[in-house]
Amino acid sequence: MTDLVNTAPGVWSGVDQLGDDAALRDFLDGHRLGATRITADDVADVHAVRERLRPLVETADAGGRVAGAAVLTEPVVRVALDGDAWVAVLAEDTGAAEVLGVVGGLGLLSVQRHLGSDRFRPCASDTCSGVFVDVSRPGRRRYCMPGHCGNRVNVANHRARRRARDT
Ligand SMILES: [Zn+2]
Repeated sequence: MTDLVNTAPGVWSGVDQLGDDAALRDFLDGHRLGATRITADDVADVHAVRERLRPLVETADAGGRVAGAAVLTEPVVRVALDGDAWVAVLAEDTGAAEVLGVVGGLGLLSVQRHLGSDRFRPCASDTCSGVFVDVSRPGRRRYCMPGHCGNRVNVANHRARRRARDT
């Protein structure tokens, strides 16, 4: 995203880094994105997307950022806005599996790409078979439901310590 915005003329150089279909193909390949079709029209469409992305990065208005990003996702998923928050909505003729697949898939792909494989973990509690995706900044989360599984482990440890002390 950052890379795309910064290919515009005047950012890294005077020329457009995505000036033609070959440059766009290289850019997509370089980011392991690929595309089945790249025509002059697609190049123009990408330029238009790039111009819409930049203000979304620059703005200090988080609500405006979400709203602008939601418009960009519209061909795939409908998003309802609530200030800075957003919620994916089932458009008519969109099955629940479809929307959950898109939203869940994009979420997982984003974490995989930006945070890496070790953010996908099983819960550390012995009595829980949950799994979770750790999107916390430090990345040290251990339980699928920290207030619940973490407490159960603490309670169990506490009881074990007390038993050991009392015997
Ligand atoms: Zn758990």
